[in-house]
Amino acid sequence: MTLAVPTARVEQAPLPTPTVPGVAGARLRVPLVDGRTVSYANLDHAASAPCLDAVRDAVDELLPWYASVHRGAGFASQVSTKVYERARRVLRRFVGANDTDTVVFTRNTTDSLNLLAKALPRGTSVVLFDTEHHAALLPWRGPNVLRVQTPAVADDAVAVLDEALRSTPVGPRLVVLTAASNVTGEVWPIKALSAVARSHGARIVLDAAQLAPHRPIDIRALDVDYVVLSGHKLYAPFGAGALIGRADWLKAAEPYLVGGGATAQVVDRGDQLGVAWAAVPERHEAGSPNVVGAHALAVACETLAREWDAVIAHERALLRKLRAGLATVPGLRSLSLFGAEHDRVGVVSFTVDGIEAGLVAAALSAEHGIGVRDGAFCAHIATRRLLGRAGAQEERAVRISIGLGTRAEHVDRVVAALRTLVADGP
Ligand code: PLP
Repeated sequence: MTLAVPTARVEQAPLPTPTVPGVAGARLRVPLVDGRTVSYANLDHAASAPCLDAVRDAVDELLPWYASVHRGAGFASQVSTKVYERARRVLRRFVGANDTDTVVFTRNTTDSLNLLAKALPRGTSVVLFDTEHHAALLPWRGPNVLRVQTPAVADDAVAVLDEALRSTPVGPRLVVLTAASNVTGEVWPIKALSAVARSHGARIVLDAAQLAPHRPIDIRALDVDYVVLSGHKLYAPFGAGALIGRADWLKAAEPYLVGGGATAQVVDRGDQLGVAWAAVPERHEAGSPNVVGAHALAVACETLAREWDAVIAHERALLRKLRAGLATVPGLRSLSLFGAEHDRVGVVSFTVDGIEAGLVAAALSAEHGIGVRDGAFCAHIATRRLLGRAGAQEERAVRISIGLGTRAEHVDRVVAALRTLVADGP
């Protein structure tokens, strides 16, 4: 006998409420077009996640103390130096990196990838899939860059990468991989891809901007060489990110941003300057560093690392509820790289037949107090292709993305709002 599972009742069952770290924006209220105010449903975590309570407290505590790191003798400088260097150790641990790996603090993922691109040894072949976020797609230039089309089946990506690497000339090779798509949330088969990259002697840089806030990352278990991430997607404020990984290429490279902090010594040689660059990581952190940002990012990483089980359970339950709800909205077409069943973090992009994405997003905000994103998500090639594959008539999509600031009520609200929008029209 087969058991008939009453799907609707399952979806209505109360969600488990694991204790997840609190976020600072949880009690925000926003105005609606009709003059009411409602609690803000922030469903745009993939763009920037609200700051954790623990991060806000840590920043508050540090603010009176921040001072110039490394160079000052005063007590506040000593505090700042300690905090900054501690943040490096936390980031290294957060991704399971070795003690010999370096942690360069940057502004964000984009900055980290541009830094690595400038540090590649001459003649490095770069291989990447064409559905990357622009931050991972654009920094690599020149004749040795090979962009390959992302296949529709995740497992096929291994063969595609294998073939691409076979066609690269002898010399250093780098594979650029996104851990989770910012358009669909789908998680790439990183381990299988790193294995094939290794078989060609290639290094791998993992763009973890979207995965790092939602799942633990272990640089060694995944067998990748570099991880890049952004604080503002990891429940910390803007302006702090990191490039973590092997130090040798970075040690050999000239800094792409020059100035104080990046130098060990500067001497006047008449019409030239003699410059000895500082050791890594300082040589790639010219200028006064973002001590508060690095501390905030480190506290966010520590907080998440203590709570992974609860974080994952919270997001899985909400994503299941969201996808079940969206399936009830007439004319809604979801985008997918590898198929509806593929493993994903809490990101869903879609179109609604007959209503432009910009109008959907504007109505959700003005009439329901819900923040989502619309557009092509800085991944124009991916979004355009997936819209075409979904049979959508548009160039833009709506993206809902969930995280620690999301509650079951937010999911109920967005599903009800979309159903109303479809029924009544914009
Ligand atoms: N990579 C992915 C997958 C992203 O989603 C983003 C931002 O949306 C980036 C890179 C760039 O991040 P940032 O704007 O913080 O540099």
